[in-house]
Amino acid sequence: MPGRRSESDLSSLFWKHGGRYRGAPCVLCFGLVCFRILCFGLVLSPAAAQPQANSSPIALDVDATTISRKTLSVRETFPINSSSAHTVDLVYPKWIPGNHGPTGPIADLVSLRFTADGKFLAWARDPVDMYRFHIPVPAGTSLLIADFGLVGSYLAGNDFAPGNTSTPVQGDVNWDQIVLYPADTIADHVTVAASIKLPDRWSYATALPNPSLQGGTLHFDPVPLTTLIDSPLMCGSIMREFDITPKGVSQRHWIDLFAESPEGLNVTPERIAAFRNLVSEAGVLFRSHHYASYHFLVEAQTESSDGLEHHQSSDEQIPELGMVSPSFAAEAGNLLAHEMIHSWNGKFRRPAGLATPDYQQPMIGDLLWVYEGLTSYWAEVLATRAGLETGAQMKDRMALYQAEMDDRTGRAWRNLEDVSRSAQILYGASQQWTILRRSTDYYREGPLLWLQVDSVLRQKSNGVRSLDNFAADFFGPPDGAITVKPYTYDDLVAALNREAPFDWNGLLQDNLLATRPAQVSPGLEAAGWTVIYTDEPNQAAVDAESTSQQTDLSTSIGLLIDQDGTIVDLVPDSAAGRAGLAPASKLMGVNRRIYSADLLRQAIVDAETNKQPLDLLTLTDGYYADVFVDYHQGLRFPHLARITGKPDLLTRILQPRRVE
Ligand SMILES: [Zn+2]
Repeated sequence: MPGRRSESDLSSLFWKHGGRYRGAPCVLCFGLVCFRILCFGLVLSPAAAQPQANSSPIALDVDATTISRKTLSVRETFPINSSSAHTVDLVYPKWIPGNHGPTGPIADLVSLRFTADGKFLAWARDPVDMYRFHIPVPAGTSLLIADFGLVGSYLAGNDFAPGNTSTPVQGDVNWDQIVLYPADTIADHVTVAASIKLPDRWSYATALPNPSLQGGTLHFDPVPLTTLIDSPLMCGSIMREFDITPKGVSQRHWIDLFAESPEGLNVTPERIAAFRNLVSEAGVLFRSHHYASYHFLVEAQTESSDGLEHHQSSDEQIPELGMVSPSFAAEAGNLLAHEMIHSWNGKFRRPAGLATPDYQQPMIGDLLWVYEGLTSYWAEVLATRAGLETGAQMKDRMALYQAEMDDRTGRAWRNLEDVSRSAQILYGASQQWTILRRSTDYYREGPLLWLQVDSVLRQKSNGVRSLDNFAADFFGPPDGAITVKPYTYDDLVAALNREAPFDWNGLLQDNLLATRPAQVSPGLEAAGWTVIYTDEPNQAAVDAESTSQQTDLSTSIGLLIDQDGTIVDLVPDSAAGRAGLAPASKLMGVNRRIYSADLLRQAIVDAETNKQPLDLLTLTDGYYADVFVDYHQGLRFPHLARITGKPDLLTRILQPRRVE
């Protein structure tokens, strides 16, 4: 998931987009159906007097008529089973699946009041857990009512908060942001009957089943809290639905597109056909479905893009013309492919550390290089097989990933395993100093790692097996199960060994634990390719620059520069780094002329022949300074090139598999 805010790299403008419970994972319980009941039912002892939703659902009534003003009003009614006076503890979701961190926007929960029989109840927030409320309930209470609101200021680190997704013509309702539930309760055991009132004449889409309109309010059948939170609702006044169900597929698939203007809805038939191909390719790859139907929920409104995964839908924000503009086609196709693949890799099969029983338990992100990294790899593969992006675009993107990792000075101290474990702090980290700190690099290093696994698997099995077989075997059965089937690292290694016996543990540990200051690309090399640098622009970088409005010179002088000339990041061991530049300094001039990105690019080209250092005027904390950058290698952009004599596995991997 996360960032319209600053993701660190240009190519990672896509994703901004689920611990172990009380100790060790329960190896007895990783079977499909019994996971939550057996694993967690025995170790939890819910407070005796807590509202029990199994007998009677919690009613969650949402007034979203003011969503365009970035505010929602909520009334929630809890049946109470105890006749004596007691204290009820309610909690607000903190750890949000897909966000991989404690991102529940508790600071934006406002106007909280509790009543019983018309009388206000004094409540207190827990002094340690900001997400937990203690409510004294008098004897004889049968219904506890909570009234509250959610306000949506722009919230860095949570791109799905209403302040980030609402406009006058569209909005995105994430139920985890507008629900309280009994503390110390397994989320699957809490039943919620939700209703929502939308602005007049707005359309909506959601994976929630059986909506019914009663008196201008939408009502949904009672569902487990996990299903509710896993089923966002998107709404707006400018909307179009596209049926992208391939022939012969029984599960219906839709793109529900909400836009700022009718122009944003004019998706070409060719583009829709390519998304239909994506559904076909995903079906061929996984040979299963873990949803009754699937909705791509898409808001076309932002400057960059982001997505959040769910079992039966996605939740995506893309630029206003993101579904219609050719310059954004590859990125949008890749994003939608990524979020859909998560239905198998992330929602159905989930690392045990991310399969928590409620929304308060901390999540452990150690296997995010599978959850996100393998998803990113398959997004590249399936988007290309489907025709949503070309093989050349895919290869440029892989070259960019490798170049970014080559420049990642932070790889010398922080390995991929630590990147995965520290996801919860990296998603919200500043873009400044990312090259040294590292970011959520499994989105870039992951595709390279999994290309290596795919290539080695093909080699070890003499071309008989591939990651395609692994996809069907590990993420497929049982077909039709809409549930969570957790796995461990050992499960993963064992599954790879079933495809072809090999030291998979050794290969993975080499990638996870290595600190690599040197430039190596085992993934690309295993597939028959390597990275070369030329003065020909990398198309994936060009597309990313046009979206981010940043200038990426990280592979030449070593700078990433914002639209106004402010240095966002730099490669420490580059000409710019050695000259003493630093993030947050603003470039004011280039060779005695006022700074512009084009002028700087031209000066870099000129310096290749005139051998003069670049004279950069900088403004830092109120001080001007002249900085001389001694760099004469011109503009350099990464591309893939074939390794002579090695089989071209990458091109083979990208071949479509669907039968037309
Ligand atoms: Zn993802």
